[in-house]
Amino acid sequence: MTDNRVRSIVIVGGGTAGWMTAATLARILGPDYAKITLVESDAIGIIGVGEATIPQMATFNRMLGLDEDAFVRATKGSFKLGIQFVDWARIGHTYFHPFGRYGLDMQGVSFHAYFQRMHLLGEAPDIDAWSLQAQAAKGNKFMRSIDAGNSPLSDIAYAFHFDAGLYAKFLRGYAEARGVVRREGKIVDVRLRGEDGFVESVVLESGEAVDGDLFIDCSGFRGLLIEQALGAGYTDWKRFLPCDRAIAVPCASVEEWTPYTRSTAHRAGWQWRIPLQHRIGNGHVFASDHMSDDEATAILLANLDGEPLAEPRTVPFVTGHRNKAWIKNCVAIGLSGGFLEPLESTSIWLIQSGLSRLLTMFPDRGFDPADIHRYNRIMQTEYEEIRDFLVLHYHATQRDDLPFWDYCRTMEIPERLAEKMRVYRAHGRAFRENEELFNDTSWYAVMHGQLLKPRSFDPVAGVMSLDETRARLAHIREAVANSAEYMPKHRDFIAEHCAA
Ligand code: FAD
Repeated sequence: MTDNRVRSIVIVGGGTAGWMTAATLARILGPDYAKITLVESDAIGIIGVGEATIPQMATFNRMLGLDEDAFVRATKGSFKLGIQFVDWARIGHTYFHPFGRYGLDMQGVSFHAYFQRMHLLGEAPDIDAWSLQAQAAKGNKFMRSIDAGNSPLSDIAYAFHFDAGLYAKFLRGYAEARGVVRREGKIVDVRLRGEDGFVESVVLESGEAVDGDLFIDCSGFRGLLIEQALGAGYTDWKRFLPCDRAIAVPCASVEEWTPYTRSTAHRAGWQWRIPLQHRIGNGHVFASDHMSDDEATAILLANLDGEPLAEPRTVPFVTGHRNKAWIKNCVAIGLSGGFLEPLESTSIWLIQSGLSRLLTMFPDRGFDPADIHRYNRIMQTEYEEIRDFLVLHYHATQRDDLPFWDYCRTMEIPERLAEKMRVYRAHGRAFRENEELFNDTSWYAVMHGQLLKPRSFDPVAGVMSLDETRARLAHIREAVANSAEYMPKHRDFIAEHCAA
């Protein structure tokens, strides 16, 4: 059998996607399998936002064999236990979407079914009381899991906030130490092979061509290879997710480092707040059909914790995905493959997911269309599933104060989401479908948080007597409260383990 393996991989772009790709391939393929080259242009730079993550990020770090404290220190990062949503369901209302699970599933029935039963009876007003992550977030507490038997302290789910520029640098050091070669220069042309249209090389301003067998397009929104050279086409989801611009600005830090991202709904979108060790990242995501840049900037600047540390920067975007993320010998990873607005911090996860699926379907130089088709199908489903979860936040609102929210509340939504909402309204049931990213806890947290009202509760939760349900819920609530009490302050935890 001839050796048909990919011998040369060219990564186009050195943002979060480019360096995550370089680090992953260097780690998994090792130094001798293929030559890995990354081309980036300092003159073009990176997008420089994208600083909140989900718990899967820890799996990525473990796959690379990173020391977590070194990673947090190098990126001036902090820890994240979930997202606080302010003014989303209605003005003045706040809820928390925590990582991890609520309470404890019992007798094969999910905890939130028991909660739902007691909630309908008026006995369990606040679901946060059964989430250690939510309780810790309220007290600005953080620690990693310890071995504490069946205490909630044994299972603390968390993610990170980090400085995107420092993260790319950190991964660059990792990848270069494992043999990845970085080429500086602006790509001015993409050459396609005459006979089959495969990408043959990228040409730098200097006139030098960088050729390869496999090209990974990490060039950001512009999609230099996947769109500009190969014409993948783009599915635009603005009708479901109408925001299409963001204004970003960092500001000075404050005394307490909150271990969560905050998302505050505004007149035509929402504002993120991401606390790092050296600053707070802020941004206002909004719909340009309903608001001007000037108005969006004014709202952002009026809602900062401290002094702005830079000029506000505008980032236009189109929510959606490339019709094909993989064409011939080119795979788009990161913003070049698509973008879902940052409401649930899922873009870095989509990079991770794209990479893991690429490794599952890793090609040889035959680039079998069956492999490529499967990859594209799975990535498209992943985008659709996350899209639906994001749409839920906008659609399941009681806000009727402004045209933007009227549109969101009354717009037509994807059928898959409509079904989930119907099922929830019937008996308060929430499900994870197949391998979708967000699990039943997340769906429940947001449906409950957005004040959707189920008519009843899961009948199987009624198998347990009311007295026993009451007693068990009280017991779990107490364990959660005691655990939160035990945890150190987030700031103290960082000072002890990973201060920048
Ligand atoms: P980029 O950072 O744009 O990198 C593109 C690279 O390609 C650069 O190195 C550039 O120099 C290079 N390049 C481009 N053209 C050329 C050329 N001609 N020649 C040579 N090099 C070239 N994600 C999250 O997970 N959490 C968040 O909280 C989050 N918030 C976000 C907020 C906003 C407003 C936006 C827009 C995105 C957010 N994201 C978030 C997404 C996240 O920022 C991106 O997924 C991530 O930064 C990856 O970007 P990238 O590497 O694909 O693109």
